[in-house]
Amino acid sequence: MSLAADDSSTLSALCRVRHDWTRSEIGALFALSFPDLIFRAQSIHRQCFDPAEVQISTLLSIKTGGCPEDCAYCPQSARYHTGIEAEKLMPVEAVLAEARAAKNAGASRFCMGAAWRSPKDRDLAHVCAMVKAVRALGLETCATLGMLTRPQAQALKRAGLDYYNHNLDTSPEFYGDIITTRVYQDRLETLQHVRDAGIHVCCGGIVGMGESRADRIGMIAALASLPVHPESVPINMLVRVAGTPLADAPVLDPFEFVRTIAVARITMPRSVVRLSAGREDMSEETQALCFLAGANSIFYGPKLLTTANPERDRDRVLMEKLGLSPME
Ligand code: SF4
Repeated sequence: MSLAADDSSTLSALCRVRHDWTRSEIGALFALSFPDLIFRAQSIHRQCFDPAEVQISTLLSIKTGGCPEDCAYCPQSARYHTGIEAEKLMPVEAVLAEARAAKNAGASRFCMGAAWRSPKDRDLAHVCAMVKAVRALGLETCATLGMLTRPQAQALKRAGLDYYNHNLDTSPEFYGDIITTRVYQDRLETLQHVRDAGIHVCCGGIVGMGESRADRIGMIAALASLPVHPESVPINMLVRVAGTPLADAPVLDPFEFVRTIAVARITMPRSVVRLSAGREDMSEETQALCFLAGANSIFYGPKLLTTANPERDRDRVLMEKLGLSPME
């Protein structure tokens, strides 16, 4: 499958949003030669976005550790001995100070993450106060708090929440190998509540958890067949944290990671694709290939929830080397 750069009618057809991607079509994309796949992803990327712009988000853990869920990749699960102590929900003022610092460092979106299965209503009221305060600074707001009921999603919307992150993580078939304390359908229901409340959806997954390529295909198929594509699609590379069940998961070939980014870009052409967790262990060259494959968002700052993230200065140097600038 190849594409001429000047074939504009073909290009605009490729940018059309589709919700009927089949697994065999997605598998065929994964199987393209690397140059063909990257060219196709980059061609689509240029149609929908400025390829030199990267959206920058900052992620703060507002309530760390002690989570009752058993996500096998997560150091915040209370079931694993990872050295992370359970903390209380941060006070609003402390969150606001972090948000101001993020804004000064160039972030346009501030994401607040809490290690909960689902928020209690009294905690949600605090989060709503944070959302209002952060938004008043002129930042877009995002939260990731676990499963939400319909009224909780509506309360967050009333507080002014712009985005809600809730990942599908992997394929429906592989999900039970990674998490046993909830099912795929629970995720889909929360996503629907968020969408129905009028909040933008941030939803992606993690690769490198020992899944097969068929599972990566299944994950992209699940994301691309949502009734509305997520506005933001984070693609994470597993961070293998000592003490979690996936501490010794086999390392995924970086080219397969880049392929996953490219296939996400092709199948969800209008979504911002976020190069998310795992950048700390990635070479500059791999990250550059991810941008070429259509990634156009990163988390910026020294901590990504509880795992290390490249220092801000390293990010700035890489963006300068590549001639990338922050998306307004
Ligand atoms: S990923 Fe979220 S839900 Fe799962 S254990 Fe970690 S904090 Fe809990």
